[in-house]
Amino acid sequence: MSARPLSGRIVIATHNAGKLAEMTELLAPYGLECASAGALGLPEPVENGTMYAENAAIKALAAAKATGLPALADDSGLSIDDLDGAPGLFTADWAGSPRDFGAAMARVKHELDIRGCQPEGAKARFVSALVLAWPDGETLIAEGRCYGRLTFPPRGDKGFGYDPIFVPDGESRTFGEISSEEKHGLRRVNGRLEGLSHRARAFIRLVDRASLQEISR
Ligand code: IMP
Repeated sequence: MSARPLSGRIVIATHNAGKLAEMTELLAPYGLECASAGALGLPEPVENGTMYAENAAIKALAAAKATGLPALADDSGLSIDDLDGAPGLFTADWAGSPRDFGAAMARVKHELDIRGCQPEGAKARFVSALVLAWPDGETLIAEGRCYGRLTFPPRGDKGFGYDPIFVPDGESRTFGEISSEEKHGLRRVNGRLEGLSHRARAFIRLVDRASLQEISR
């Protein structure tokens, strides 16, 4: 736990445009000036951790140390029950290089098909680990999950990555069919902030741990 004050500039330690947009939106009410690792020309560090939080820490610490500023990183993935949790840490890798998420979503269906599992309605969860790091090596970690089911063919052109095949529990639309605001799902319930997406849920925990105060909403 830390109540280390956070103000001024912060690096969003990602080169992923979809994550950058979401993390910038989530940080917007907190009055921080956001700069992305991509815009600052920072290299992408090798993500050789064995857990989401480890990889997020690698990214956040590399950016914080390179810039002398606090940095926020996300490491995330999709876990499918019938694939024993795959693609998990390898979620981005399933999109190949250069990234092709159409091919990645087709691979998900193929992997379920060859195991004799029903792709439609397969249980899955998105997981996000967020790490806020300072240049001196201090870190704060928070994780969030969003449970749901897969649908094929992919639906919607909003969001990024695997959003078009993921229907969060309680919804009938995919993450690809809803606005980012709906995907975050931020709302106050009895004075407490709640969220829908894995990233929003991790963010709420992180804000609490970092004692960040909203300036506007
Ligand atoms: P990494 O965290 O850089 O290893 O990449 C995680 C990968 O998981 C991304 O490239 C996306 O494909 C996928 N992913 C993570 N979060 C989301 C999300 O909110 N929607 C869709 N795909 C996601």
